Amino acid sequence: MATYVFRCAECSDFEVVQPMSAVRPTHPCPGCGGPSRRVFTPPALRTTPAGLHRAAEAAEASAEAPQVVHSLPGGAPRPRSRRWSPFTGAAPVAADRRPAGPHQPLPKP
Ligand SMILES: [Zn+2]
Repeated sequence: MATYVFRCAECSDFEVVQPMSAVRPTHPCPGCGGPSRRVFTPPALRTTPAGLHRAAEAAEASAEAPQVVHSLPGGAPRPRSRRWSPFTGAAPVAADRRPAGPHQPLPKP
């Protein structure tokens, strides 16, 4: 089944859902019964990943009526990491584990 758009000269555009094998260039207008011509529209191709599309729709729906949550989303707690972060900086490295630099050690005076 596909959705086709038809335009009546007397009324307005309307959509008809019918099999691709049944579509004709004209369709009787549901308003006045007169003939209406098919309007060719771009196909509704979805290039956005499904999860992102659902999130965008949920964000759009909550713009008018925000959803109220009573708890944080579930999930396992994140492990504490000693890796670099912009808030803590690099994790300290013990002196004996520091890589040797490309420079020769300074001569002792
Ligand atoms: Zn009409």
